[in-house]
Formats: sequence, C-alpha cells, structure tokens
Amino acid sequence: MKTAAGTLVIRNGQLVDGTGRAAIPDALVVAQDGKIVYAGPVSTAPAGLLQTTSSSDATVIDARGGSILPGLVEAHFHPTYFNVAALEDLDIKYPVEYVTLLAAANAKLALECGYTAARSGGSLFNIDFWLKKAIEKDLMPGPRLASSGREICGVGGLMDWNPDFRRIGMEGLVLLVNGPNEARAAVRKLVKDGVEWVKTYPTGDAAAPDVNDHHTLCMTFEEMHAVVQTAHNHGMKVTGHCRATEGIKNALKAGYDALEHATFIDDESLELLLARQVPIVPALQFELASIEHGPEYGMPQAVIDGHQETLEGGAESARRILRAGGVVGMGGDYGFAWNPHGDYAKELCFFVNYVGFTPLETIQCATLSGAKIMGRDKEIGTVEAGKLADLLVVEGDVVANIALLEDRSRFVAVVQGGVIKAGQLAKQIPVAAGQVG
Ligand SMILES: [Zn+2]
Repeated sequence: MKTAAGTLVIRNGQLVDGTGRAAIPDALVVAQDGKIVYAGPVSTAPAGLLQTTSSSDATVIDARGGSILPGLVEAHFHPTYFNVAALEDLDIKYPVEYVTLLAAANAKLALECGYTAARSGGSLFNIDFWLKKAIEKDLMPGPRLASSGREICGVGGLMDWNPDFRRIGMEGLVLLVNGPNEARAAVRKLVKDGVEWVKTYPTGDAAAPDVNDHHTLCMTFEEMHAVVQTAHNHGMKVTGHCRATEGIKNALKAGYDALEHATFIDDESLELLLARQVPIVPALQFELASIEHGPEYGMPQAVIDGHQETLEGGAESARRILRAGGVVGMGGDYGFAWNPHGDYAKELCFFVNYVGFTPLETIQCATLSGAKIMGRDKEIGTVEAGKLADLLVVEGDVVANIALLEDRSRFVAVVQGGVIKAGQLAKQIPVAAGQVG
C-alpha cells in the first residue's frame, strides 16, 4: 500500500493515542511521507517542526476540537460473509464471482467506518487472500488485511451443515476433517493458498442447539494439535471458535495463537491463557443482536436462550481476562442480517455499556491490541512517532461518548499511511451500510 509523499499535519483536537493513556488535549500529530514523526501536546512540539507544519506544502487537517486516534482494527472480520439471514446461505447462495465483489464492497465499507486494518476470521473460498493483495496494490480501498482461508471443522461439527443427500459438501466455506491426518492435509491446502491464519472450530455454538451447541466439541485435541504443528511449521497462525471450557483448554494446550470468543473460561484456562498471553476476540455484540433481532429472522427460542447464556458467559470471561492483564481484541463477526457490515463500532459501545470496559480500555483493545493480534504492533495500532500514519479524526470527544465512533458522518478523515482515504475530507460515494447482500 502506497504511503503519502510530503507532510500531513493534524491539529486542534485531543489525542487518544491507543496506548490506554489519558487523552492529550490540544494535540499535534505530524506525519512525514506516511509515517508519524510527532504525536503529543502542541505546547511541547519542537520549534523546527512547528515551522515545517506551517509550510504551504503541508496537508493540514483541522480536527475541529474533536478526537485524533489510531485507525481502528477489526480483529474478527468476515468480508466474505454477505449479511446472510440463514447460515446455510453462506456457502450455497452465490458463486465465488459475486461473493468476491461483495467482499470488496465490505472491505471498502470497513475503511469508511474508520477501520484501517482488520484480521479475517475466516473466508469463503480463498477470497480474503486475494482481497488483501488487491488492497495492498491499491487496486481498491480497504483495511490492511491479515487473511484467513477456508475454515477447518470436524465432520459432523458446527460448520458441517449441508446434509449428505444434497451431495454438495461444504465446498465454499469449510474444509471438513476426520482425524489428525485429514487435519494436516487441510492445513497444507491452506499453505498453498497463501493465507496467514488458520481458522478452526474446536467447539459448537448457540446457533446449533440440537447437535452442536456451545458446550459441544467439534474437533478432537489430536486434530487441533495436528493443525497447530502443521501451521506453525509453515509460519502460519492458528485460531479457533472456542465456546465450551474444554474446547478452550484443548486450544490453549494445543498451542493456538489466538482464541475467538473464549466464552466459558475457568481458572485453569485463564492461567493457561495468561501464561502465553494468548489474545482473545470475544465478538459479543453479535450475541445481543441475535437476542434482539433473532425473532425477526425466525430464530427458535432455544437458539436465543443459548445466545443469552453465551452473552453473559462471554461478558464475564472478557472482564476477567482484561482485569487479569490479558489481551482482548475488538472484532464483531459482522456479516449476518441481524449483525450487518457497517455496524463494526457497535462492538465498542457494547463493551463500554454492557461489559464495563472504560472507553480508553475499549479503544486500546480496538487499536493496539488488534495490531498485536495481527503481529503488526510495531507498525500500527497507536499514534506514536515511527508508526504508519493510520489515523481516525472524529468530531467530538470519543472518550466522553464512544458512540461517536458509530456515526460515520462525524468522521473528518480516515487516514492510511498518511493518505486521506475516507471521511468528510475525502470525496467519494460511500457504500450504504448493511445494503450489500
Ligand atoms: Zn466468525
């Protein structure tokens, strides 16, 4: 991705730098050729720098007394999930050609929502890898992406939903495995596809209450261990959909690099998690959205009850993990009709209003912790000298009112590598949130 040439100056706003530190009032951020050279109080900025910033060549953004923060990181992003109303639609409704176009539209939307980076939580076909390539080559706008490929699940598990009599398998979305040998083979396929993250399904979910509920295991420890050994051998990372306590423990003992959800932790799993500082991405607004909007989409009561249990368990686990010093990323599993693309920042509001994280903690989770999960925290995730100028400038005080991050109309600028890509200062026609599908 190309970075800007020349000087970018942002002033007249408070700096919320993503480290968790209190906001710095009346801040100045200066980037040179796409990298931050100063971020701090205007009063302590070097005199020479102030001269540079007043040169007529500099691009100047007036933050209008609002907030300057790092670009947000969506840590559980499914660009290929096209706001489906039924899970089964994911792999059979559209061909790869159309899903690719939808994924491109979702990536553009995420950037417009202030997300300058994202980690894929699993992909239809191998779209995310090529999506990443197109974004990196500036062929289209989108977050800097860490790609996943097709997701791995045990035969008969949560993601194996097409009945055998239809003879269509799970071609688009999932690699189904029986035993460690097939698990290794599935990972080797992903190695050839070029993906960075291997997404697996150690456990079930409230979505499948009959045979794969959230306390059911969908892979054996041996399968999970084979996935990790093979992936690590090739320099790939492994994550998993982990709800049940036993599945969380299996994943941690098998050497997983991250956990999605980590819903029902106990003392032992918390200890295992902290011993290696394995990050988690709870994705909890999804549960609330399922409870609130599920009935409109015909969700059975058993499913809604399961989401309620997941919501409460997940919130308690996330609180425990953060308070114990764990790494929590913000990612929301968006791409379902009741939890559509464009709503990404609802996750942040949810963590402040329902889970009890402070706004500064939540913003840190949505920036620095996301960058850590991507393995790119030396380049992005905070507004500090030496990092890429991936920034979000918002009208208003986001610490006092985190909900401002949900309102794209208040974004003055979304900046990637010093280039203004979206927001009021970028001139482009935005994709309407929740409209694609
Ligand atoms: Zn997901």
